[in-house]
Amino acid sequence: MEKQPSDMGKYGAGNTSGSFALTAHKTCPARGGAWQGMGSSSLKRLLRRGAQSGSAALQQEEPRATLQGRRHLSILHSGPSERTMLLLTQVVWFAALCAVVLGCPTIVSRSQWGARPPKSRVPLKTPVPLLIIHHTDGKSCSSQAACSRVVKGIQNDHMDRNRWADIGYNFLVGEDGRVYEGRGWTTRGAHAPSMNKISLGVSFMGSYTGRTPSPAALNAARGLIQCAISRGYLRRDYTLKGHRNVNPTDCPGNALYRLITKWPHFKA
Ligand SMILES: [Zn+2]
Repeated sequence: MEKQPSDMGKYGAGNTSGSFALTAHKTCPARGGAWQGMGSSSLKRLLRRGAQSGSAALQQEEPRATLQGRRHLSILHSGPSERTMLLLTQVVWFAALCAVVLGCPTIVSRSQWGARPPKSRVPLKTPVPLLIIHHTDGKSCSSQAACSRVVKGIQNDHMDRNRWADIGYNFLVGEDGRVYEGRGWTTRGAHAPSMNKISLGVSFMGSYTGRTPSPAALNAARGLIQCAISRGYLRRDYTLKGHRNVNPTDCPGNALYRLITKWPHFKA
């Protein structure tokens, strides 16, 4: 078997964060937990409300504040609103820390890349046992604007030419290091006939027959796998396959295929 020490090394780093994520998973909220359920917009709303009541409290305490000098107004002298603010700040930091530790990469949402709505959707039963790697065998891209154009083109192709309900993949990965939401975590994809209902399909944008994707893209994909496990969409004992392992195709390209055969959980 051909050895690729540099890739193993890269994956080794991923593993380190993987075990770190495992530890963090015990303290960080699981999917559906109160913290996870609190989206960033809810947090912002709460924070705004806290800030409003905090400034009201500040106005009430103005004489004392003036007396002591405003810079000495510490939380020791503060009212409940300011303590709420402090707590909310801690909530925001904790949520941000969890997001980093759990290894979820930046996911560009459908609305961010300008997706067309799907014609229909079939729910995907999660956690799935299988993750399938593809390449789009088309244009690669290295900025959010360029990758968004590529994703839109693929969606048009899948919906108009193939007459599918939506873009086929669950996620796409750009060489800009971002992940682009396709059908997402909970909708059955159209990427690997006979395996769609038990798998997530992740596709690297570009053609990877003669070269591997950029380190940024590879990191994003590994982060996405870790993220899928942490969020409960992929089984911890999942199997990783290339598209060619389940259907007669060259996908995901020889270079990328050789690389993923060295990744953990790979099984031909
Ligand atoms: Zn494929």
